Amino acid sequence: SLVLVTGASGYISSHTVEAFLDQGYNVRGTVRSEDKGKYLENLFKNKSKGKFEYVIVEDIGKEGAFDEAVKGVDGVAHMASPFHFNAEEPEELFTPAIQGTVGVLESLKKNNPNVQRVVVTSSVASIMDSNIKPPHTFTEKDWNTVSPKECEEQGKNATGQAKYRASKTLAERAFWKFFDDNKPSFDGVAINPPLVLGPIIHQCDKPESLNTSVAAYYSWLKGEKTEKDLPAGGMNYVDVRDTALGHVLALTKQEASGERFITGNGPVSGNDYVLEITRDFPDLKNIPKGNDDSEYKNKLRSESIVHDGSKVTKVLGLRYRPVEETLKEMGQSLRERFNF
Ligand code: NDP
Repeated sequence: SLVLVTGASGYISSHTVEAFLDQGYNVRGTVRSEDKGKYLENLFKNKSKGKFEYVIVEDIGKEGAFDEAVKGVDGVAHMASPFHFNAEEPEELFTPAIQGTVGVLESLKKNNPNVQRVVVTSSVASIMDSNIKPPHTFTEKDWNTVSPKECEEQGKNATGQAKYRASKTLAERAFWKFFDDNKPSFDGVAINPPLVLGPIIHQCDKPESLNTSVAAYYSWLKGEKTEKDLPAGGMNYVDVRDTALGHVLALTKQEASGERFITGNGPVSGNDYVLEITRDFPDLKNIPKGNDDSEYKNKLRSESIVHDGSKVTKVLGLRYRPVEETLKEMGQSLRERFNF
């Protein structure tokens, strides 16, 4: 069968394309330029199982953008959405996030009577409530009501994070509303990852172009942080390959229908980063000294917020790889890519 992956050139989506190909699915990816399409074609040309093809969709925020791309596909992973904290106007993010999501669904309804399911890449940004102080555990039942309100009240003066989080929340709300309003013949699933970490395989020729989540770790690896920045807790993470597989399971397992799934492997901190960097890459300079005391590390974790990622294991059978593997292989891939 043929799966459409939107925004296939991105960090998580390129791994997701690979995961689908490895399971024997054929994949059509949407990209914004010929150059990005060719890069992926080349990356996946030796895959023995599924075949990769690409189509250009320049502006996902435009009505009818996906009308052609959706033709003949059996399922869709809608992953394209801007992820950065530098938007001036909230609409810079809202339009591609919301219209992109609704647009895929509308194009399917119009042009593809046989599609079975759409998986949307949402985020824990749609779940978390930044007014709730840790320790606290969030689950799939929770919705972020704070960020959309902040953007409504403050417009361009809202924080960059609020604008991004609101864009993800409103896009996922619009996703579910489409199903309620239209009762289409296909169904939907949402994947809600926290910070996504792990090796890069997508096109990225300079560190300045790294996607937001990997860029945050890269500055630790490059010794751009100091002891003052530690412990830098409060985040949860998932390995990019685990979240990619989560998308495959969500698209293919019947039980996923209509559900949201947090794909998260618990808290991670800057302290974890520097300990792992020191262990794996003793030659790297200016890495702040972490605290390896297990009591301290347990305390950091117990004081963190948690995005409970156990449902996807229970319902879809997704297993998480250990954090050491994620951090080590992310470091290795970045050192290889940028030659240091
Ligand atoms: P990337 O920036 O690497 O990928 C984003 C993708 O969306 C790229 O393919 C990009 O295209 C495309 N895109 C962005 N804006 C537009 C637009 N206006 N029109 C067309 N295409 C657009 O980031 P990630 O891989 O991290 O993000 C992928 C998805 O995962 C997003 O939906 C993000 O919100 C979500 N997510 C990410 C997390 C993380 O920690 N990384 C955590 C939780 C959710 P191009 O390559 O041409 O720029």
